[in-house]
Amino acid sequence: MSTPLMKAVRIYEYGGTDVLKHEEIPVPRVRPTEVLVRVKACALNHLDLWIRQGLPRVKTLPHILGTDIAGEIAEIGSECWRLKPGQRVLLAPALSCRQCEQCLSGEDNQCVRYGLLGSAYPGGNAEYIAVPEWAAIPIPDHLPFEQAAATPLVFLTAWHMLFDRARMKAGEDVLVLAASSGVGMAAIQIAKLFHCRVIATAGGDAKMAKATALGADFVIDHYKQDISAEVRNITDKRGVDIVFEHVGAATWQKSNESLARNGRLVTCGITTGYDVKLDLRPLFGRQQALLGSFMGNLRDLFGALRFVFSGQLKPVVDTVFPLAEIAAAHQRIEDKAQFGKVVVIP
Ligand SMILES: [Zn+2]
Repeated sequence: MSTPLMKAVRIYEYGGTDVLKHEEIPVPRVRPTEVLVRVKACALNHLDLWIRQGLPRVKTLPHILGTDIAGEIAEIGSECWRLKPGQRVLLAPALSCRQCEQCLSGEDNQCVRYGLLGSAYPGGNAEYIAVPEWAAIPIPDHLPFEQAAATPLVFLTAWHMLFDRARMKAGEDVLVLAASSGVGMAAIQIAKLFHCRVIATAGGDAKMAKATALGADFVIDHYKQDISAEVRNITDKRGVDIVFEHVGAATWQKSNESLARNGRLVTCGITTGYDVKLDLRPLFGRQQALLGSFMGNLRDLFGALRFVFSGQLKPVVDTVFPLAEIAAAHQRIEDKAQFGKVVVIP
């Protein structure tokens, strides 16, 4: 019997968009506890671009990118009992051992075996992917696959940052950097849903208008305006309770200057660089906190999904490309042309 084949995009080396190779490879075989998912949509993240460029490097090449995946159950392993073929699902963006103390205490993103699909494991830039049954989460019929794929990584990350790390409370002022990014659009909506006042930043009138449409109370043009000066104006010099950072070097100083007494700066990324300066005086004098955050646990994912499924949180899809045009999808993110998630469909 011949092995069934699927279309996939793999990288054999690191570099520009020309290293994304379209090919036919065997459909993965499912282990007894795994399900085979027919990928219907896969959203891109900055991580896809970074891995393509070789930072970080993956364990083995060739490699399939793609962390945010939605699709249909095509086949179930012999020991699976929860899911049925044909069910619509999205996938948890990272796998963990489900056996260690961290996993069993609900802190799976601290598991030593924690690894992302499309990074530590093969990803969703293919027609099929095999994952453990627990990682496939049923989605309601009304949620399109493109939106389901645009959800997991950014909503889980934003949820973890705001609640688990920064301990956001109703009524607080939250500054969200770069509203047009996936985590930015998620954070604005989550903070508004929990009755906070949101100041967002965006570059240019079109993106500013979209940030307002997402619910931001104030929007600062981060190319033209001084972020911390505007924050001081808006908050009557008090500053914000939470700064939601992921931009890194370009905004770090302004982000710190925007913090109120007792303010918490929480960061999950370094899109513009990691080498920053820190003035320790306000850190102790104004009793501020700097918090790092990496992905989120399954509790965060389910916490956010409840509101995505009810329509109270809306994943924003920027553009949808066929998988065959994945180079153009990467380019759109490299050009910072997107607002929300760029999605490919195999
Ligand atoms: Zn574990």
